[in-house]
Amino acid sequence: TIGIIALDAAGNLSGACTTSGMAFKMHGRVGDSPIIGAGLYVDNEIGAATATGVGEEVIKIVGCHLVVELMRQGNSPEDACRLAVERIATKNPKKAKEVQVGFLALNKQGEYGAYCLQKGFTYAVHDISGNNLYDGKSKFA
Ligand code: ASP
Repeated sequence: TIGIIALDAAGNLSGACTTSGMAFKMHGRVGDSPIIGAGLYVDNEIGAATATGVGEEVIKIVGCHLVVELMRQGNSPEDACRLAVERIATKNPKKAKEVQVGFLALNKQGEYGAYCLQKGFTYAVHDISGNNLYDGKSKFA
């Protein structure tokens, strides 16, 4: 998945995502990316989030809506992403290390963060300082 979340100069949030889906997927499978609240969610009062990885797991927790609601409750973007990832890991304790899921979030104040189950989730940020690459923190680093 390629997910993009943005805060413009007027302070408005937006988001978009695209995906190739999963390898060897069943014909007709619908992943998380086209489902608002699962693979992408934007609330212009609070923040925006997007997801990548095993869409079925993201759909089960309505992941990006959860991340935005966790930010609404006062969590930082990274903490909100971590809590959503931990919810997936808690629901799948035996296979959590194999399930690849990551979230990226941005709040109304322009703070951002990411978290994933495995290491190796890199995200790019464009801001006044230019273009930068970051590693999302991970549960099983
Ligand atoms: N989230 C996508 C899906 O489940 C897969 C991806 O990350 O590209 O369809």
